[in-house]
Amino acid sequence: MSIRKALYGKMGIREDVYEFGRQVEESLARRFQKLDAVAEYNQLKVIHAMQKNRVSESCFYPSTGYGYNDLGRDTLEQVYADTFHTEAGLVRPQITCGTHALAVALFGNLRPGDELLSPVGKPYDTMEEVIGIRPSRGSLAEYGVTYSQVELLEDGTFDYASIEKAITPKTKMVTIQRSKGYLTRPSFSVKQIGELITFIKNIRSDIICMVDNCYGEFVDTIEPTDVGADLMVGSLIKNPGGGLAPIGGYIVGKEEYVENASYRMTSPGLGKEVGATLGVNGSFFQGFFLAPTVTRSALKSAIFAANVYEKLGFAVVPDGREPRQDIIQAVTLGTPEGVVAFCKGIQHAAPVDSYVDPEPWDMPGYDSQVIMAAGAFVQGSSIELSADGPMKEPYAVYFQGGLTWEHGKFGILKSLQEMVDAGLVSLS
Ligand SMILES: *Cc1c(COP(=O)(O)O)cnc(C)c1O
Repeated sequence: MSIRKALYGKMGIREDVYEFGRQVEESLARRFQKLDAVAEYNQLKVIHAMQKNRVSESCFYPSTGYGYNDLGRDTLEQVYADTFHTEAGLVRPQITCGTHALAVALFGNLRPGDELLSPVGKPYDTMEEVIGIRPSRGSLAEYGVTYSQVELLEDGTFDYASIEKAITPKTKMVTIQRSKGYLTRPSFSVKQIGELITFIKNIRSDIICMVDNCYGEFVDTIEPTDVGADLMVGSLIKNPGGGLAPIGGYIVGKEEYVENASYRMTSPGLGKEVGATLGVNGSFFQGFFLAPTVTRSALKSAIFAANVYEKLGFAVVPDGREPRQDIIQAVTLGTPEGVVAFCKGIQHAAPVDSYVDPEPWDMPGYDSQVIMAAGAFVQGSSIELSADGPMKEPYAVYFQGGLTWEHGKFGILKSLQEMVDAGLVSLS
């Protein structure tokens, strides 16, 4: 027996599960090679931007107080801007999460009387309160910014006729969410997003097109900013933080719009000039450097999970073969026991908090109990291996992350072992 197999055995993976995983992994060799090619390209893209901007050791020094003349911060923002081929960037630890980054971009660019349009259906849950779809204190709606939404067609494509009708002289900004998040619609490819933006710009070229790029960075060789997006926004505890950023969000795009956002992030008049980095610059740079290969690990883990569970007869979205637009994988296990067993496996594979059992709980804002598995170095980080699922029909888990492919694979094998042990699947 190989020492590797023996160690898997010691860590709770029995031979039949190990073998099953090995066969699935072997069948994915060609697919994984393609992911390697994307990661290689994106790795070069990031290094190129770092070299061009002369990143140096002095970029890692912390600033305090107002944070004037923070060389590292300003250089990092230019590295993001160059990597994503935009004029400007705002990359800050003061941006607390993805929702905050999106809110800053929206509030910074919308004024009373303006309208925001989502041509891709309902946005991410937390955005409902930012926009005021669900009445909420301090929402855009309270400031007199209206909102309209066009649903996707049955097949998940854009309803161009209705989008054209929804664009009025008031329409100032359009928000396009790349990843399906936790909805059932498909995620959009960058190419599709480009077609949508072109359509909108042909109607009115001055509409600001913003893309919520959460979970999408480095999945492809092009990003929404390569196909016309004026603003692109995301979270640093997802793909672009590479697992090392302990906090943060980014906004990149046209100089004017990024600057508008900066006046909302800090204060009118101050904008980008203030904001101490308190020592996080090194992690931001190093995390961005690692992000292309970390994203590849998460993608390999998601594709492996899809193929393992599809082979066992479970419904998986995306399926085992389709192209990926983000790092999220849904697996419909069909029973509450299945959801719990899956999440236990992910938890027990973690480097942190591996000894705890995740339990369903009444999470605020949800209409059913939710179970979450995460043993993360950074709280809530979903580029780290994690899974969660609402305890309701159809009993699906959403799985994402994996800083290394080896850890992602171990997590999925652990989940499968838990399923086998609970008598929920049989490998023979
Ligand atoms: C995660 C996510 C957000 C919000 O980010 P938080 O960091 O959780 O606030 C917004 N949109 C999408 C598509 C996301 O995946």
